[in-house]
Amino acid sequence: MNGRLEITGLKKRFGGLTAVNGVSFAVEPGEVIGLLGPNGSGKTTVMNMVSGALRADAGSIRFDGVELTRLKPNKIAKHGVARTFQLVRPLPTLSVAENVLLSFAFGRKRHWGREAQMLVEEKLEFVGLGGRGGEEVGNLTYIDQKRMELARALASEPKLLLLDEWLAGLNPSELRIGIDLVRHLQGLGMSVLLVEHIMEAVRALCSRCVVMSAGEVIASGESEAVLKAPQVISAYLGD
Ligand code: ADP
Repeated sequence: MNGRLEITGLKKRFGGLTAVNGVSFAVEPGEVIGLLGPNGSGKTTVMNMVSGALRADAGSIRFDGVELTRLKPNKIAKHGVARTFQLVRPLPTLSVAENVLLSFAFGRKRHWGREAQMLVEEKLEFVGLGGRGGEEVGNLTYIDQKRMELARALASEPKLLLLDEWLAGLNPSELRIGIDLVRHLQGLGMSVLLVEHIMEAVRALCSRCVVMSAGEVIASGESEAVLKAPQVISAYLGD
């Protein structure tokens, strides 16, 4: 088993609001699965619990048989789960390579030597920023910031990547680049959980989708069928 995420009965409350109410689904090894739903349906809260940024009130998150539910974010990263963030949040005063290196250090014990440099360069090459590690992050274009954010997530060498609206804000030609990068990761056998509003990207990348509304899963299965399901259409129209 490699890169399998299994979420069972996951719950999270914020005061009187139940943001996630008994969510269950699995990401199979090497699968790119879409987590969809209108704004406020609980998708980011699920991602935050998987990455350890938030602690679940109930339920379990297992990754390749390991219980992640009560682990801290750095321990979860060590088990092979990495994420990008909805907002691009690099450290602007550091270089591209330094930003990626920080994520690498987060996922493991300290390794600041030649091995780390080579890994950072490999990840930058992969995302299309080869040879540009010395540039200041503040000077990067939007697509290059997105590339760097992906390189940061890849620096911990994850088996499961959580992409939280990573493609948002890209123009059509940039979107194709972004989709191709995710396809490339898929080709390498990485599991991906994709929170995404851009249906073109969902159709291009996800054979299966899970749709949430008001904290619950309202549909899941093969993407084309799920996107046509009446309860999914009405959940979106009600948004
Ligand atoms: P989505 O990602 O689907 O847009 P979220 O997971 O961000 O949805 O939010 C689900 C619900 O939980 C929303 O009603 C949101 O306002 C609420 N929520 C999210 N985070 C917090 C928080 N830290 N404190 C209080 N309420 C929150």
